[in-house]
Amino acid sequence: MLVSEGLVLEGLTKAYGKTRAVHDVSLTIPAGQFVGVIGRSGAGKSTLLRMINRLGEPTQGRVLWHGAEVTGTSGRKLRDWRRRCAMIFQQFNLVGRLDVLNNVLLGRLAYTPFWRAALKAWPLEDRSLALAALDQLDMAILAPRRADNLSGGQQQRVAICRALVQEPEIVLADEPVASLDPRNAKIVMDALQRINRHFGLTVLCNLHSLDLARTYCDRLVGMAAGRVVFDDVPAALTDRVTRELYGMEANEVIGAEVTAIPDGVGSAVASVPVDA
Ligand code: ADP
Repeated sequence: MLVSEGLVLEGLTKAYGKTRAVHDVSLTIPAGQFVGVIGRSGAGKSTLLRMINRLGEPTQGRVLWHGAEVTGTSGRKLRDWRRRCAMIFQQFNLVGRLDVLNNVLLGRLAYTPFWRAALKAWPLEDRSLALAALDQLDMAILAPRRADNLSGGQQQRVAICRALVQEPEIVLADEPVASLDPRNAKIVMDALQRINRHFGLTVLCNLHSLDLARTYCDRLVGMAAGRVVFDDVPAALTDRVTRELYGMEANEVIGAEVTAIPDGVGSAVASVPVDA
């Protein structure tokens, strides 16, 4: 099937010496989908996201967005892709000594001469946009506060606002709630859901918590040893699949005691073989 809309990954591979962090990953993600990438630590989730954003270069394979190749671009085209493809990190990456509004405004750097940012002389329309983004996530009241005075959940919502004012088409979130307590994790996931639904943004989100992955995502992509071994709706992620995906960590991510798979029961994980 020829899909020109959305994100297409073709045979993406990233090798570090003999280790294949990501191994021949091909996926098609229609625009507007909220996709969760799951799998145990070291499965290759972060490396995959970083290649999409071009923070890391693939050893092999291609990334396409709306039919145009993203891999191999440089200069203006690469800057344009990074603007269209916003990234959110586990550690928020805010400037602690700056206030919330100016942190959000940093998302406008691609549109504004650097001197304006250095002098904090942002155009009025940029300020309006930043305040509107903060308002969207119920954060406008915190606009004058220093970023390092906020809770982790609030800081992550500021990071989401900074991503929003980039006016991106796709948002990549690398373990965005891993350092948050459950209440703040929910607030941040609600915020990602809101930007997905309200603005129609494609969201690709690495998640450790399966509860959150099931609750928020339209589709789950399970990775093991660099490969995609599960790709389906959350309802298809049974405990047995989870056990195969997470091995010894399964009990922890399922959040309940699970029993071992009896010998001789066939693989419930999708057809792709797992190897290193
Ligand atoms: P995940 O995000 O699922 O925890 P990662 O993408 O961080 O997994 O890592 C996948 C694999 O690639 C791991 O084996 C990791 O040790 C390896 N890896 C990641 N980054 C590097 C690097 N810069 N150099 C060498 N190996 C790396």
